[in-house]
Amino acid sequence: MPAPKFRVAICGGGISGLCLAVALSRYPNIQVDVYEATDRFKEIGAGVMIWARTWKILEQLGLGPAFSRIAHAPPDGSIGTGFDFRRSDQPQEGFTYHSVKMSCKYAQEVFTHSPRIISISDGCIRFYRVDFLDAFVDALPSGVAHFGMRLVSYSQKAGANKILLEFSNGTTGTCDLLAGCDGIKSSTRAQLFKEAAERSGDVTLLKFIDPVWTGTIAYRGLIPVERLPPSHRTIADPTMYCGKSKHVVSYSISRGDVVNVVTFASEPESEGSSYSEDTGGTHCPQKELLDCYAGWEPDVEQLLSQIEKPTKWAIHHLRPLPFFVDGKVALLGDACHAMAPHEGAGAGQAIETNHERKDAFILAALLEHATHETIPFALEAYQHVRLPFANHVLKGSYDSGLMYEFNSEYGEDYKNLGPVIEKQWDWVEEPDPEKERLRALQYFKELASRS
Ligand SMILES: Cc1cc2nc3c(=O)[nH]c(=O)nc-3n(C[C@H](O)[C@H](O)[C@H](O)COP(=O)(O)OP(=O)(O)OC[C@H]3O[C@@H](n4cnc5c(N)ncnc54)[C@H](O)[C@@H]3O)c2cc1C
Repeated sequence: MPAPKFRVAICGGGISGLCLAVALSRYPNIQVDVYEATDRFKEIGAGVMIWARTWKILEQLGLGPAFSRIAHAPPDGSIGTGFDFRRSDQPQEGFTYHSVKMSCKYAQEVFTHSPRIISISDGCIRFYRVDFLDAFVDALPSGVAHFGMRLVSYSQKAGANKILLEFSNGTTGTCDLLAGCDGIKSSTRAQLFKEAAERSGDVTLLKFIDPVWTGTIAYRGLIPVERLPPSHRTIADPTMYCGKSKHVVSYSISRGDVVNVVTFASEPESEGSSYSEDTGGTHCPQKELLDCYAGWEPDVEQLLSQIEKPTKWAIHHLRPLPFFVDGKVALLGDACHAMAPHEGAGAGQAIETNHERKDAFILAALLEHATHETIPFALEAYQHVRLPFANHVLKGSYDSGLMYEFNSEYGEDYKNLGPVIEKQWDWVEEPDPEKERLRALQYFKELASRS
């Protein structure tokens, strides 16, 4: 084994941290440690969906077979349903006003690499979250994970060789690069922006520390498929049931055995405020859920009546950050671009940080080429490519929610609204991730050659 050229500490073992750890572990000269605050890697019991763009990255990480086994079905490159959009906030049968179809241009390559367990089309690729995280955990080399290690602070002093890490259990550590993958309430982000504000005297930077409420409350639940009529439309196709200031998303996961439901109820005027209660997945009475969607079409009634113990979530997002990086500290995933879930994009964006083609990833590829001295340039190049794109998806995800709930400038003009909603997902195909990777490498080389 070659001696490691530098050591990367990953703070947080969610989707972003584990994906980065798996990607970097492929380079024997980079030492990786994942510090997770809790006593194990864990995900909530709910669904998660990705698009073909993300699938391609998983494939290239060598995780195609593992994710194929747990997907509702792996993509085969043909045109598939992203979501059917319906008008549903009336007691009688609603109507589908638009169907978003997806055929990703990367699909052909995806298809050729995938074992064909079930042949379904592209579109919304769906998973049970616990399985999704476990697929990364299974790919993690032994000795990388450290539990019960909540990072409280770091110190990167000018001229010092190492970053010092301090954990809440009283232990300390060192690293050459700190990756803050510690989620929407990231303590790494808090310190990074606090220090930047102190250094620059620009107190407006402090507003980026705390996430803000989007004005939306979500309820979530899982339904065993046998509890629904076999003809229920969501069993076949992912569906968005839309109404004024509310919508309900549902799709089947776990090879069709389970239907995942997330409902949203919004006060758009409250976006940017603080939500008073602590609702990060607390259980609530079923009646609260049923009352919220009383009088909606029968499809929705059938779904919600089967969710006996819904959980309730206040949906928060970040104000688009002006930077993701400071020196040898970088933010990834929800720590730097936590977004409303309306385009099914947060986890995919966290994974995209690690985009690769053949043997290289945007961040991992840069680090493969970096030396101890050029780490800051690699992180700057990562930020140069990833920040505008991630912030674009963040903003678009919020705007999509307004459209689904007839609160955008298109109101209830179905003829225009449908195509505009579909266009919101243009980022799934453009910009070409391979070009993005090359752009990042080029930028890194320019920075390094100037130093
Ligand atoms: C209702 C809802 C539906 C969604 N649906 C989708 C979807 O369909 N598709 C999609 O792509 N995205 C979806 N998302 C978004 C997606 O879940 C997130 O973007 C993704 O899980 C973020 O992963 P992460 O690793 O960045 O953060 P997290 O999953 O929050 O992981 C952070 C980890 O860091 C640990 N940690 C925290 N602080 C510290 C510390 N100080 N020290 C050490 N460890 C620490 C935590 O314990 C945790 O393990 C949805 C989100 C919501 C709310």
